[in-house]
Amino acid sequence: MSSSELRFALLGSGSKGNALVVECGSTRLLVDCGFSAREIERRLARLSLTPADIDAIVITHEHDDHWKGVSRFSRAHDLPVWLTPGTRAAKNADALAATELYSPHEPFAVGDIELFPYPVPHDAREPAQLVIGNGDKRLGILSDIGVVTPHVRGMVDACDALVIESNHDPALLAGGPYPPALKARVAGRLGHLSNQQAAELLSDIDTRALQHVVVAHLSESNNRPELARAALAEALACSPDWVHVAHQREGLSWRSLSNR
Ligand SMILES: [Zn+2]
Ligand SMILES: [Zn+2]
Repeated sequence: MSSSELRFALLGSGSKGNALVVECGSTRLLVDCGFSAREIERRLARLSLTPADIDAIVITHEHDDHWKGVSRFSRAHDLPVWLTPGTRAAKNADALAATELYSPHEPFAVGDIELFPYPVPHDAREPAQLVIGNGDKRLGILSDIGVVTPHVRGMVDACDALVIESNHDPALLAGGPYPPALKARVAGRLGHLSNQQAAELLSDIDTRALQHVVVAHLSESNNRPELARAALAEALACSPDWVHVAHQREGLSWRSLSNR
């Protein structure tokens, strides 16, 4: 039996807000909701979607750039919100339309979409990232992670597409405008991946099935798209043009995982 095509798009990515849509068959999920409810609606419209097209929201962790609009958006459109027990404990979950708990160690499904969460080192209460599948193809989402662990490598190994954090260039971060404590947080083991860490991860896993690589959560102060692209392209031995960049404002339009 052939499964429905998996496709995804980013509404925006970076420290001012993150949200991604994934679609398979008749199911569409919003992964993170880090813009105001009105802004989420506006950005869904760019993808020819309305809130009524979304079936559920999955939250990776409680930081505001992933959480901001979730209460208002979920209540306005009566959408269940999936989150870890730790994320629920860190926030006022009463403000959400309805909550569903997931464990960062247990796969679950929403409609036609399979989700394989995994825990990541990051300075939130119980942060998780996700591999998303349709029984055939797998999209790995990896963001807001300070260091790559063997478990993380295993989860994103041999995916068909990757959305991967490439947050900062270490030299730009060191010489940039952030105060010392924030520089230490971003570069630390519970912070964000540098271009070099992202590239190293790609060198360490099986990337032969990759149809798309998207660099995400780029810092506007401490990185440049061409640096992130060049680092990942070198690791993949591909042209920098082949590495997509998810922008803070524009996001990234639909990418499909063909069943070839
Ligand atoms: Zn973030
Ligand atoms: Zn975060």
